Amino acid sequence: MLGNTHIVGGITASLAFAQISNDNPLILVGAGVIGALLPDICHGGSKIGRAFPISSKMVNKLFGHRSFTHSLLFLLCVALLMNAIVPYKTFTLGLLLGIISHFILDMGTRQGIKLFFPIKIRVRFPLTIKTGGKVEQVIFAGLCLLSLYFGYEIIMEMVDIT
Ligand SMILES: [Zn+2]
Repeated sequence: MLGNTHIVGGITASLAFAQISNDNPLILVGAGVIGALLPDICHGGSKIGRAFPISSKMVNKLFGHRSFTHSLLFLLCVALLMNAIVPYKTFTLGLLLGIISHFILDMGTRQGIKLFFPIKIRVRFPLTIKTGGKVEQVIFAGLCLLSLYFGYEIIMEMVDIT
């Protein structure tokens, strides 16, 4: 999937979660966007890969594309690492939600992801789409609408409280 689709995916996931939690929605969304971009550090052409070319090259050399950084192991590592260095639950939650949204979206592409890395099975949905194709545009638009809806709900709730 394209970077923009991942960004909206991360926003949608964190806003959806914000509906059922008391965590600060802005921090959830901010962390959600970072989390949604993070797995593609393994890919030099991605948004985050271009921002951190050296780290990106290293991860790509070590693990290849869509393996470690697209696995449950990575999710666990991020959770443990965040707990150790930034013990701020809301931020970590947003980050993890963003990463999970990235995995789900990439499972919808033909290449799939190595979710159970180091086991080399590729995991993908029975129906997959082409990255950057027409269907991705539809998914992108759908996610935009969903996040607008969730965002609206949250703003209304905030107005209600004050
Ligand atoms: Zn990816």
